[in-house]
Amino acid sequence: MCSKNSKPTYYCNKCGKKLNPKIKICPCCGNDKRLVKMTVFGALTFQSSFRGRKFLNGIGKWVKEVISGWFPSGDTCKHPKGVEKIRVIDKENPKNIDSYQEKITDIKTGKITRDIKEPLEKHRHK
Ligand SMILES: [Zn+2]
Repeated sequence: MCSKNSKPTYYCNKCGKKLNPKIKICPCCGNDKRLVKMTVFGALTFQSSFRGRKFLNGIGKWVKEVISGWFPSGDTCKHPKGVEKIRVIDKENPKNIDSYQEKITDIKTGKITRDIKEPLEKHRHK
């Protein structure tokens, strides 16, 4: 199953009653104008991402990278709305317990699909 649609919710725009999608006229006040609310979770909040890198003076290589935010997923069936990703790579302190961090959360379900925190040194030797 691969559903990309979020279900719209209908409300009467006069009295605010939640309506069955099949009912066109409000049973409460007889109004025929409906208000449609779509819940597109995360669409506005997460469709932006951030990447920060720390460079050492003189050399063109970065020593610390932090990325955070919304990213599209290669598997659109599994993650139709993309993922929220946080990743930290700290090359300055590769022995630190949190020098490699990666956390991936599915936007649609809010389920954490990956949650790693380990020394970068150890991560590299895998
Ligand atoms: Zn109404």
